[in-house]
Amino acid sequence: MKTISALFPFLQAPQKVVITTHQKPDADAMGSSLALAHYLIKKGHEVTVISPTNWAEWVNWMPGSDKVINYEKQKDKADVILEKTSTLFCLDFNAFYRTKSMAQKLAEITCTKVLIDHHQEPATESFHFGVSDSTKSSTCEMIYDFIHAAEDLPMIDLSIAECIYAGLVGDTGSFRFASAHSGVHAIVADLKSRGLDHGKVHEGLYDNFLENRLRFIGHVLLHRMEIFYEYNTALIAIPKSDLLKFQIKTGDTDGLVNYPQSIQGIKMVALVIDREEERKWSFRSKGSFDCNTFARTFFEGGGHFNAAGGRSSDSLDKTVARFKEVIKTQSSLI
Ligand code: 5GP
Ligand code: MN
Repeated sequence: MKTISALFPFLQAPQKVVITTHQKPDADAMGSSLALAHYLIKKGHEVTVISPTNWAEWVNWMPGSDKVINYEKQKDKADVILEKTSTLFCLDFNAFYRTKSMAQKLAEITCTKVLIDHHQEPATESFHFGVSDSTKSSTCEMIYDFIHAAEDLPMIDLSIAECIYAGLVGDTGSFRFASAHSGVHAIVADLKSRGLDHGKVHEGLYDNFLENRLRFIGHVLLHRMEIFYEYNTALIAIPKSDLLKFQIKTGDTDGLVNYPQSIQGIKMVALVIDREEERKWSFRSKGSFDCNTFARTFFEGGGHFNAAGGRSSDSLDKTVARFKEVIKTQSSLI
């Protein structure tokens, strides 16, 4: 994989660009994809954003989200576009498997493939150009850096600013994680000077759910959360029946994993959701417990040091039992 700056000469001529991101895109995934799309369109490129799957409804306030193609719903149309693509940007993920049913197509097509991502252990052999930097707060920060490196900061308009800010907020836990370094605040200052209404973005991200979601959270915290003080760990396991009862949709469970972090002494939180095709794990830690290694070692996943995800094809009961066994062996690290 060559450095991202080596890509700039190729972008002098108009390209047919596809931008894609990980399945079930969150604020950073969708924010970075749309920010880059707005910028590249302004630069004269033809740009399509393809999401591997559907996304949370609260993403729909983001400018340009109405034009995003859902690969699972419009596979034939998306495949035709992918076959004609000259440059593919992969944002906020670093291995094709994270795009689910799109992975094979991404591997097959022969265009120029570019990675911009901040997760650990990238599959660099899959990309021609790119930047992979796990010290970055978010992929949105890296899109800002990309525009900066191209000396195009004056091209940042309100749409680009809102999309970038959404990812900064989302991935830094509203600027509370260690990843919110001084450079992140400098970017926010710059976006504000370009007219960003930050309150609008916070409302779009966090005040944009339906009543059932809040009641679901109440139910889950009351009935589905277990605390293991001896391991400084909290576990939430959500059965399918809860998702059905409360009519939970994509995105409604985002943020749930953060609630137990407010309990004194809790340094590690695990959330598992009994989804249709798999049991999906989320892990969050404070301090020195490495969620990325934990997810990779025990639950076929990965991510960042303090936030990672994984999966299991076992039943909910079985994967929860395995977690309880495994966490005992890790207790000295938490
Ligand atoms: P979340 O718990 O919000 O789904 O994911 C936390 C972080 O870990 C995100 O940065 C996400 O992209 C990453 N992540 C989630 N699931 C996986 C996985 O299965 N593999 C890898 N490598 N990263 C994951
Ligand atoms: Mn991210």
